[in-house]
Amino acid sequence: MSLNIENIRGEFPILHQEVNGRPLIYFDNAATTQKPLAVIEALSHYYKTDNSNIHRGAHTLADRATRYYENTRSLLQSFLNTKEVEEIIFTKGTTEGINLIASTYGRKFINAGDEIIISAMEHHANIVPWQMLCEEKGALLKIIPISDMGELDIEAFDSMLSSKTKLVSIVHVSNTLGTINPVEEIIEKAHAIGAKVLLDGAQSTSHLEVDVQSLDCDFLVFSAHKLYGPTGLGVMYGKREILDSMPPYQGGGEMIKEVTFEKTTYNELPFKFEAGTPNIGDVIAFGKALEFINKNGKNAIKAHEDELLEYATVQLSKIKGFIPVGTAKNKISVISFNINGMHPFDVGMMLDANGIAVRTGHHCTQPLMQRFGIEGTVRASFSVYNTKSEIDSLVASVSKIAKIKN
Ligand code: PLP
Repeated sequence: MSLNIENIRGEFPILHQEVNGRPLIYFDNAATTQKPLAVIEALSHYYKTDNSNIHRGAHTLADRATRYYENTRSLLQSFLNTKEVEEIIFTKGTTEGINLIASTYGRKFINAGDEIIISAMEHHANIVPWQMLCEEKGALLKIIPISDMGELDIEAFDSMLSSKTKLVSIVHVSNTLGTINPVEEIIEKAHAIGAKVLLDGAQSTSHLEVDVQSLDCDFLVFSAHKLYGPTGLGVMYGKREILDSMPPYQGGGEMIKEVTFEKTTYNELPFKFEAGTPNIGDVIAFGKALEFINKNGKNAIKAHEDELLEYATVQLSKIKGFIPVGTAKNKISVISFNINGMHPFDVGMMLDANGIAVRTGHHCTQPLMQRFGIEGTVRASFSVYNTKSEIDSLVASVSKIAKIKN
């Protein structure tokens, strides 16, 4: 069944405003999505009625806050189809999730001479922590090259795998190109030689069904703010046996069983990795974002976004001077492009003058920009509340801008 987009738009207060005298058209969804009213109100409701620290208080407010907080973890268990609810760890976001894994799993299990494989289309969050670890340990970082279309070179990946490979950390969906990577194949091949696989799910979890058991990934990390949820909150999934084998990330309250000056014993999962008072209000509000996705259905959301992608791709491609960057066969609703003879930043500024919000620059993927020999791109990324008529406005504006130089 197709979605009622006008009703959905009604749930997002931010969309109903003018920017620079024009109705806002928000096409920067790969950076962060907007929040439905249910999420905004859940946050305010929590602070008005339930605010309390969790897991330790013996009073009613503490009990309520704990139940609501843990309810989001349960929602995430079905959202990702994890085997156990304790395999869901709350973090600050994708970046913290990857740093957590590098600092704990990486420090314990990656040694001198070992190899970690990433790809040429990684976000800086999935490059820098591994560079830091490799420098510390004397390990080697290997990069899977990509084609001009922005697809992984799987033959090159095959030739990189060896008994030295300990970890493959790969972006499920590229934030810059929109490419959906063949992660099932990558996971199977990595497991065949005994390596673990971490998926950067920052872009995939909002658009695709991500079932961690059927994928068989060892870790998955993502950020709530790209799934209609609050900023500064994320999720790290890990298989229980791996999480159990890892040392804690940070020491402090919540993550301990017993502390003496002689010896501290650590708490069970998931608390072992959640030191200190967590972001309780935002976790509770994130539950409402997950309910929003569940209510509409991932497949229906994706069908709408795919329709927008196809329409925008056809229309934009007709414009003289339009240069797409990333034309993979399997994509989510992200279009990166340049206009011949123009700087992406200037294009972005001119679109903003028309009320159209896009991202410009390197999108935290500088090595990818180097691969394409460009400084940056203009990126339009579509979400469930976007419409074909908004794309018509984008196409009309890009067309006008392109005429300046073409
Ligand atoms: N990885 C990818 C693919 C992303 O798109 C992003 C955010 O843009 C990140 C990692 C980092 O996410 P955060 O800044 O929420 O930690």
